[in-house]
Amino acid sequence: MAKKKSTLSNIIFGHFDEPPWPSFVKPLPSELFTSWLLRLSRSHLVRYYTFCSSYFNGIEFWDRDLDKFLPTGIKDIILKKSILKSEDIDQMRLVSFQPNLFVTDIANRSPWFTPFSVYSLKHGSKHRTALTVCPSCLKKDGAMPYFRKSWRLSIKTVCVECGTELIDVCPECEMPINHLIAEKGRRSQTPIFPVTCCWKCLSNLSEVVPIPAKAKALEMQQFFDTIIETGYDARHGLQYAHLYFLVLRKILSLLNKHGNPQLDTLQRELSRAANVEFIVPKNSRANSFETLSVSNRANLLYKAYWLLEEWPERFRELRAMAGLRSKIFVNDFPDIPYWFKTEVDYNRVVYSRWRNDFSESYSSFAELARWRVSKIRRREENDGDKQDQITR
Ligand SMILES: [Zn+2]
Ligand SMILES: [Zn+2]
Repeated sequence: MAKKKSTLSNIIFGHFDEPPWPSFVKPLPSELFTSWLLRLSRSHLVRYYTFCSSYFNGIEFWDRDLDKFLPTGIKDIILKKSILKSEDIDQMRLVSFQPNLFVTDIANRSPWFTPFSVYSLKHGSKHRTALTVCPSCLKKDGAMPYFRKSWRLSIKTVCVECGTELIDVCPECEMPINHLIAEKGRRSQTPIFPVTCCWKCLSNLSEVVPIPAKAKALEMQQFFDTIIETGYDARHGLQYAHLYFLVLRKILSLLNKHGNPQLDTLQRELSRAANVEFIVPKNSRANSFETLSVSNRANLLYKAYWLLEEWPERFRELRAMAGLRSKIFVNDFPDIPYWFKTEVDYNRVVYSRWRNDFSESYSSFAELARWRVSKIRRREENDGDKQDQITR
């Protein structure tokens, strides 16, 4: 191979396979891949679309969820033309939430990510939620605002660092937030507006006055954030956090289901017990949890979180109240975790005993279960009274 000429540029960039991009931006902490790519494009003073179409020629990138599925062709080009390593790129992708949040293949089933599409926004499709952002974080970022990876998570509803609620629509025009689309249709314009501007009305999301989050929402988020970070759920005695999220997901799907009388009772009783507003679920096939608004997601999440918080007492009680059979928890749940399964089975054992011992005296299993719960409660109250007498 011919020796490269010792020009200044060859001395500086000699270890690159081909000339590197003139500009480089360093990924920021917990940054989302497309946020970094957008900032990289901007650092070259061109639009995201222009940058991508000139360098990723022939690779479909537009209306592709690059944070979720990154074509190897694009990754290879980034590796060639920047100083990033493969793991630096992977760290910005949603796959990095594996295995702490989920273990399934991201391509087959990718729970917990809000749908992200350009066309759906343009054509008013049902998948309206794209990105959720914390206006306070964007404000704190100052001159270098960027979008966090966790803002694509459907279980991220408040920002623990700022103590504020996340937003998923622009308060000015009420359109969903999408950081990549603002430059589309403005071909002739140089992107001079900040990346934090709404794609539709260009009002700056970092200027939005944040709404303080409720203490219980922050506590819940702190729990989620911690177990995603550590991969370990000590509260439920689980070694693996994804085993908690699998059950959380199941509960959420039941809370988001419409048209089952027993589930309706569960949803109403749980809302009452957790002291959170009851929202009638829409048809869950067309409105999966991920596509709901951030406030609706926060509402359902808190109830599911609350139900699993004092395990298994709250679950046992609410389930008895609603008269829910094991079937509803086991159906469509092939990877049901053991910690949840044993509780569901426990109830099944109680049910078969009832058939033998109490079938005369109780008209239904639900009635027996309710009686058992009230008995436990009375005992707890009595114990509490005794405790008071001792301490007095
Ligand atoms: Zn924040
Ligand atoms: Zn707007």
